[in-house]
Amino acid sequence: MVDMNQLQAMFGGTFDPVHYGHLKPVEALANQIGLSRVIIMPNNVPPHRPQPEATSQQRKTMVELAIADKPLFTLDERELRRDAPSYTAQTLLEWREEQGPQRSLAFIIGQDSLLTFPGWHHADTILNHCHLIVCRRPGYPLTMEQEAHQQWLESHLTTDAEMLHTLPAGKIYLAETPWFNISATLIRERLEKGERCDDLLPAPVLAYIKEQGLYR
Ligand code: ATP
Repeated sequence: MVDMNQLQAMFGGTFDPVHYGHLKPVEALANQIGLSRVIIMPNNVPPHRPQPEATSQQRKTMVELAIADKPLFTLDERELRRDAPSYTAQTLLEWREEQGPQRSLAFIIGQDSLLTFPGWHHADTILNHCHLIVCRRPGYPLTMEQEAHQQWLESHLTTDAEMLHTLPAGKIYLAETPWFNISATLIRERLEKGERCDDLLPAPVLAYIKEQGLYR
């Protein structure tokens, strides 16, 4: 019998700031397929890339506030602690080495990230370390622009969530999570214009943003 509580997932991003478009699809996903825990891992943004408006410490604090009452989630600071650019493939390799070869591990991304995924550093190795679970996000297609990438996607796809629990890695699962038309960009723009964001992110995170004078 499959133990439906052994699958762990990591969820990376800039989280500038963390919002309901991150949290709610993943909570729904956890209920749908059975996830024992979701590790939120804010990125260290390399110096040559556009920097987040909030500092690493502020992005970390916002995630802590967002998940304080949600036992499903934990925070992983390993990429924030690194001075060097954080490559997801490297982090997932390290995580696999920590967890051993048998454990089922997954990396969660939104639909927009699936489209850019083939261009990620050492993307071809990532499915050796974990599964990829894709949450729905409005405004992005579910097919890849290049034929080779579409073939890659189809060769790894499964519609059977049980396979995520029985195999350690290697599958891509398109989850039927609810759609949330929310982005951190939208929140930053609204806050800059002095518009309300109460329905877009948790109240303690919004209170912290105001207290710190962020995104004005
Ligand atoms: P920004 O607007 O600053 O680019 P963002 O809102 O896209 O930020 P990120 O921190 O870049 O947030 O995203 C982290 C992960 O969460 C990515 O895999 C992204 O695809 C996913 N994600 C973000 N917003 C949503 C959403 N509304 N629905 C589903 N997935 C999302």
